[in-house]
Amino acid sequence: MKTVNDFNFKNKKALIRVDFNVPLNDNFEVTDATRIQSAKPTIIKILEDGGSCILMSHLGRPNGVQEEFSLRHINNKIEDIIGVEATFVENCVGPKAEEAAANLKPGEILLLENLRFHDEETAGDKVFAEQLSKLGDIYVNDAFGTAHRAHASTTIIAQFFPESKCFGNLLAQEIESINKVMETGEKPVLAVLGGAKVSSKITIIENILDKVDHLIIGGGMTFTFVKAQGGSVGESICEDDKMELALEIIKQAKAKNVQIHLPVDVVAANDFSNDAETKVMDVTQIPNGWQGLDCGPKTKANFHEVVMQCKTILWNGPLGVFEMENFANGTIALGNSIAEATKNGAFSLVGGGDSVAAVKQFGFEDKVSYVSTGGGAMLESLEGKTLPGIAAILD
Ligand code: AMP
Repeated sequence: MKTVNDFNFKNKKALIRVDFNVPLNDNFEVTDATRIQSAKPTIIKILEDGGSCILMSHLGRPNGVQEEFSLRHINNKIEDIIGVEATFVENCVGPKAEEAAANLKPGEILLLENLRFHDEETAGDKVFAEQLSKLGDIYVNDAFGTAHRAHASTTIIAQFFPESKCFGNLLAQEIESINKVMETGEKPVLAVLGGAKVSSKITIIENILDKVDHLIIGGGMTFTFVKAQGGSVGESICEDDKMELALEIIKQAKAKNVQIHLPVDVVAANDFSNDAETKVMDVTQIPNGWQGLDCGPKTKANFHEVVMQCKTILWNGPLGVFEMENFANGTIALGNSIAEATKNGAFSLVGGGDSVAAVKQFGFEDKVSYVSTGGGAMLESLEGKTLPGIAAILD
């Protein structure tokens, strides 16, 4: 696996696919610069070698050229974070981009306009990828967030750099973290899967049964498993058409010697609202008119015990409706348990959508080993898929 650390960038122009798809407010100011921060080590390494950086990214989902999606809005933020002036060029391909790239000196940064102002980007167009490729000497992919897309700048472009392509530090770290859980993790390995629906996690569950010793299932998914085994779930979120699948998963887990841990009690509410009346109930005895929105105290204690036994922990998906304060306690308790296990030497990876939001919201970001920057890319990795952006570099 080649990374930026395998190259000397002296007098070279690095063409770097970054994921600077950052949120902007109404004044076009960056409200969360995590993604720019995450790319900093790669950019600094190249500049310190005596190379220059040509940064390319998408921003949002523009329909053709739309000024509100221009990357010019984030140029200042990049300069603040990297500490180097950046030149912005208003098209990512064509004479202006080529001229700006040709004039680039060692130690300088060039920011290209939004790749998705050209439909060819998401279409994975080869001619467009070749045009982009002319701008740099070495292609660096540091955009984990788009590594599951076979777009021109994330995948197709790599073929024009057969000997001079590599991963940036961020993407390399993401790959290593996933491998640490899925391939080389110290046993016992635990996966905690929460979130709303079994249907969106089924491929992950199936893939992960071959990798883990323990599987905690929580959140809304709980109730499909509980009802399938004969419990009453009241108004709780439940996918009746996935009940057979749930039983099949339980059977497979037994055959593979994986211990499944489900909630035994829940905080149930008489409405899907933070102000609803709540009661702690047995997870198998939720009456009509009530729905389970968080895990109960016995469950929290059980899950804590499981987490503390494990040396490698993957967490995807909240254990309750954490967006509502009264139903966030199960998710917070799990975060605390994983933080404690990490302090005791376990490796913990948090990834995929809402669990990352929860980890940030409740301040666990620095208490786990690694928080992934990619939502969809992380989920597809956990499903066992080879991401096209990664395959293109390894090829
Ligand atoms: P996912 O994107 O599949 O990880 O699902 C995340 C969503 O699951 C969050 O918005 C949570 O509010 C929701 N969720 C977690 N537990 C429950 C539950 N018991 N009932 C309904 N929704 C839940």
